[in-house]
Amino acid sequence: MPHSYDLHSHSTASDGTLSPAALVTRAAEHGVSHLALTDHDTVAGLASARAAAAQAGIALIPGVEVSASWQGRQLHIVGLGVDAAHPDLVEGLQRVQALREQRAQRMDESLRQRRIEGVLAEARALAGDGQVTRTHFARVLMARGYGSSMDRVFRHFLRRGKPGYARPEWPAMEEAVAWISAAGGIAVLAHPFGYGLTRAWLRRICAAFVDAGGGAVEVSTGTATANTVASAAALARRFNLAASQGSDFHDPAMPWIELGRMLPLPADVEPVWHLLAGAS
Ligand code: AMP
Ligand code: MN
Ligand code: MN
Ligand code: MN
Repeated sequence: MPHSYDLHSHSTASDGTLSPAALVTRAAEHGVSHLALTDHDTVAGLASARAAAAQAGIALIPGVEVSASWQGRQLHIVGLGVDAAHPDLVEGLQRVQALREQRAQRMDESLRQRRIEGVLAEARALAGDGQVTRTHFARVLMARGYGSSMDRVFRHFLRRGKPGYARPEWPAMEEAVAWISAAGGIAVLAHPFGYGLTRAWLRRICAAFVDAGGGAVEVSTGTATANTVASAAALARRFNLAASQGSDFHDPAMPWIELGRMLPLPADVEPVWHLLAGAS
């Protein structure tokens, strides 16, 4: 069977709806041979994902998606092939988790001022042992009838300037890259066209990312188009970064993003799995 790489996905350890084991099973059913579990700011799902991957006969690449900032912009840095027990990574993620918790409380307060009460308590119940994310707030608001789709709820409540928004205080991109590198992983700038940034900003960010030790840029995702793939591949070439691909799957109820499904990488970029031990 040809290899099929999906290097970006979420489980119930953060804002996905499938347990790590169910996610791995679904990936195998969709022909994925190498899956990276990359939950937001946590590696808590990796142990059970690894066990399920051994059962399913696919390779599990230990990953994480770290919330970070650069000059006031928010970025997501995926780490691939990390040692999840490395103290620098463990301590770094604990810091981000504390910031996540503080932001959730500010979001809840901000909603309360609009007489929308008790959202955090419900979001926590939905998240269980996992990280509380804006996705959980969105699911609660949607269930209460505040919007007919996740996208609408995000647009009306959870974006900058909206009633449920609270500004996150994520660590600097350079720190996130350093934790990932210390843990033996490759830092990947996730979905470069998902931030609403101009090309000039993206080029500045890529330059700083390379200086910080970043190794790859995500060139294809489940929502990528031929245009975004071409633009992201141009960033990879210009900054001598490897190219990653991953669906960013969260939820079978959002079937337009499926495990293993994304446009292929262009032939003239270096696939990031060439840099991952034992993955090519
Ligand atoms: P957080 O890291 O807590 O700020 O939450 C960010 C997550 O919200 C992303 O990883 C997405 O899964 C989700 N998200 C952001 N915008 C949207 C949207 N328009 N529709 C659905 N989910 C979204
Ligand atoms: Mn997410
Ligand atoms: Mn992301
Ligand atoms: Mn993601």
